[in-house]
Amino acid sequence: MQSRYQQVQEQIAAAAACAKRDPATITLVAVTKTWPVETILAAYQAGMRHFGENRVEELADKVPAVSQALGPDHGITWHLIGNLQSRKTSAAAQYADFFHALDRLKIAYRLSDQLQASGRTLPVLLEVNISGEASKAGFAVDRWEEDEKQRTEIRNAAALISQLPGLQLRGLMTMAPWDVPDEQIRPVFRRTRELAHWLQEQLPQVNFTQLSMGMTDDFSLAVEEGATHIRVGRAIFGERGN
Ligand SMILES: *Cc1c(COP(=O)(O)O)cnc(C)c1O
Repeated sequence: MQSRYQQVQEQIAAAAACAKRDPATITLVAVTKTWPVETILAAYQAGMRHFGENRVEELADKVPAVSQALGPDHGITWHLIGNLQSRKTSAAAQYADFFHALDRLKIAYRLSDQLQASGRTLPVLLEVNISGEASKAGFAVDRWEEDEKQRTEIRNAAALISQLPGLQLRGLMTMAPWDVPDEQIRPVFRRTRELAHWLQEQLPQVNFTQLSMGMTDDFSLAVEEGATHIRVGRAIFGERGN
């Protein structure tokens, strides 16, 4: 794991250099879904401090177990990277430090209320479906450049979400299509960055600076196209058994 981790860091540095970016502006989120707490503790010993889970139940199991093992000052940031169903927002409000996959207003309202009740705030990213694949979650923005309705919808959603006291809107998250050539992946990341830029112009009071994009197979491309958070599992931990 240590050498794989080092290799990923080297690849991030190379991609950042290619794009004339400072690698320190890129957060590597180690995706530990399906791996046991022992794996997370080993990753912690290897120096990792940002961990990502896609299922909130798994997050809710692991956060207390890791805290118990490491004590309260562990300095870990827990990223919830998968979509939420509305009846599961309270666990997210309790255990997540950063939520990458906000895809509906209803979830935003519930989360904000629950966070407010517990005196917390949660940084969030809006998940956007840039590729238009039916299997993908997120705000529909596959034609945002030419479709005014899509633009208006996400702008209005972002404006509303930015007003919610429990949430801190920070930017966008996207998933690239699987098993397609790089020439089809790069535009997904580039168009996500451009959409964030457009939203920033439309809503100057809101922060759209963070971009969560890139996984094991495509994180170098994502870094070249401006990712600030990459979510990497297999490249660090190997294939998941499931
Ligand atoms: C599993 C997962 C990842 C990491 O995928 P790898 O291919 O293992 O790097 C990233 N993002 C999300 C939303 C995931 O569910």
